[in-house]
Amino acid sequence: MKTIAMKVIVCLFLVAMVLGVSCFAAMQAKKYDVHDKTRKNPIVIKPPRRLGLPPSDAIILFDGKNTSEWVSERGGGEVKWKVENGYVEVVKKAGGIRTKKAFGNCQLHIEWRTPEDVDPKISDQKRSNSGVFLMDRYEVQVLDSYTKDNYEDNKTYADGQAAALYGQHPPLVNACRKAGQWQTYDISFLRPIFDENGKLVRKARITVLHNGVVVHNNLEIEGTTSHKKKAAYRPHPNNEGYIRLQDHGNLVRFRNIWIRELPEQPYLIK
Ligand code: MG
Repeated sequence: MKTIAMKVIVCLFLVAMVLGVSCFAAMQAKKYDVHDKTRKNPIVIKPPRRLGLPPSDAIILFDGKNTSEWVSERGGGEVKWKVENGYVEVVKKAGGIRTKKAFGNCQLHIEWRTPEDVDPKISDQKRSNSGVFLMDRYEVQVLDSYTKDNYEDNKTYADGQAAALYGQHPPLVNACRKAGQWQTYDISFLRPIFDENGKLVRKARITVLHNGVVVHNNLEIEGTTSHKKKAAYRPHPNNEGYIRLQDHGNLVRFRNIWIRELPEQPYLIK
């Protein structure tokens, strides 16, 4: 009985989400004339003083001091990762961490650093692996993919290297810095939309800048990140999903994490 009740609640939630999206789209879909003076100007925000800093409407997810916006991915318990000197570092076997708040469409800034002195014999997916997950499901890979010798010195499969949309698309270029240096991701993410029956009506899309370089340009995401398996969508509530950082057993650090929630844009809903 409990399972049936849960299913009914999830279905009702999905219906409410879809209706919400449709109403929002309908509200926003008003047609304007060219140079229409009744069209609202966008809200005013303060841009950051320099690139990488949060603009005035950003939600600060990690400011270098504490992980109060985060919980463990394991049951939502306390974060066990190490916080020091302005960064948070993976603690092996502690499990990943995720935001308390869920995010759909968003702009995410995050900085990461892989350990400096890694044994050169450690290669492939074991070389400082972590990951940034959007909506808890769609991974932008974090890995030491710096190469001095066109990958002869540091090889992995292309759709698993740093900045790859893991298991789906390699980055357009390899813009990695050396291990031990801080690197940035600036991500613009458009969530997928499912209808009330869980049918996909819009694929998710992602744009990623790695160290300021576009490495995915409005890329369509093929589904939930999987390992050794073709990605496919699994329905989930349209607005539900956390930002999650992966514990892959390597001491990867993160800092200066902020996010901006982006509104749904009606022309992007069919
Ligand atoms: Mg990973």
